[in-house]
Amino acid sequence: MPQMIRERSIEGRTSDVHPKLLADLVNQTPRVAIATVLLSLIYIGIFYQFVPTLILSIWFFLQMVSTAYRLHNAREFNRSLKQVDLQWTRRNQTQFMLFSIIQASLWVGSSLLVVRYAPQPYEMISLVIAIGVINAAALSMSSIYRAYLVFFFMIIIPQMIIMTMYGEPHHLGLLMVVAIAIPATLILSKSIHQSRLSIIATHDELEDSVRKLHELSISDNLTDAYNRRYFFEASEDLIADARKDQHKAALIMLDVDYFKRINDTHGHQAGDFVLVKLAEAIRSTLRDSDIFARIGGEEFSIFLNHTSLEGAGVVAEKIRTLVENMTFDYESTPIRVTVSIGISELDHQKRTADDLYKASDRKLYAAKESGRNRVVL
Ligand code: GH3
Ligand code: MG
Ligand code: MG
Repeated sequence: MPQMIRERSIEGRTSDVHPKLLADLVNQTPRVAIATVLLSLIYIGIFYQFVPTLILSIWFFLQMVSTAYRLHNAREFNRSLKQVDLQWTRRNQTQFMLFSIIQASLWVGSSLLVVRYAPQPYEMISLVIAIGVINAAALSMSSIYRAYLVFFFMIIIPQMIIMTMYGEPHHLGLLMVVAIAIPATLILSKSIHQSRLSIIATHDELEDSVRKLHELSISDNLTDAYNRRYFFEASEDLIADARKDQHKAALIMLDVDYFKRINDTHGHQAGDFVLVKLAEAIRSTLRDSDIFARIGGEEFSIFLNHTSLEGAGVVAEKIRTLVENMTFDYESTPIRVTVSIGISELDHQKRTADDLYKASDRKLYAAKESGRNRVVL
């Protein structure tokens, strides 16, 4: 599951801002910036005849600074999300809150300028712009819902006060319309927020299931080692790289000695138990980059990238002595086993995973023939 970024909601409870919601916020930012510039120009186009040019220029300049601030904030979000830096992401959320306060103040400022300088009925246009802005923001800001609420109320309450100030019937009528629109817009924005969250949750679950299915499809269900099919696929990829970069690689084949006897003496379940513990022990000696797989019954293979025949010999000998000295306690019955190992190295004759596997298998046969519990290079 992706890590959640906690945010205190307006009610004082903690709520989660999903990183994907924040990524949405980042993606929408360029469009929001263009829309803000266009809307500001429309506003100036309508009101330049009434509002003094200097004041209008300052207002426009502040709008551009605020837009640049949001673009900067989006870039910071992008970087903090990529680096999964929770504290940095939280700082960016605070910055976004500041942005929403600045933006709301600028739109409230624009309405006040209209009331101060423009004659009636221009205050209606300013009201329409304000309602348009809060509706558009329901989509573009509701990722951080708390910031949207602050933005919403900072714009809508002054608008209501302005409408009350006129005290005329049609203004009071408009006030009623706005009052009805408030819960409607809030419900709408909340449901946008929640449906995005549920889409993201479904997507996360799907990703999780696909990951689990993939893991199941590449692993052996008894020992949790990789399965035969994945071993050959992954080794082939690494061999292609090794041949290109001309680095070494080796393949180890390992088979438990006289394993049939373990089953015959202690039962099949004891045999399974030994296989599980044996796989754990072998894995503990390997690097993350090594591919360890159960090829069949009691046979395992290891692909060692960037490793020479001698290097693989050292690893194999370590595994052999480790197993030789281990006691597998199955239901208080001590069981001891040994393993035989064959190794081969990538070269001009052995060019594929299958070539390496066959060559290691011949060495393994030689190890069995010469008395078992040994490594043959
Ligand atoms: P060798 O030293 O020649 O390898 O002798 P071996 O007995 O290990 O060899 P063989 O191939 O004759 O026997 C392998 C046995 O492994 C056969 C089978 O009973 C057992 N086996 C294979 N898969 C499993 C498994 O998943 N669980 C258990 N418990 N036993 C298994
Ligand atoms: Mg065997
Ligand atoms: Mg065998």
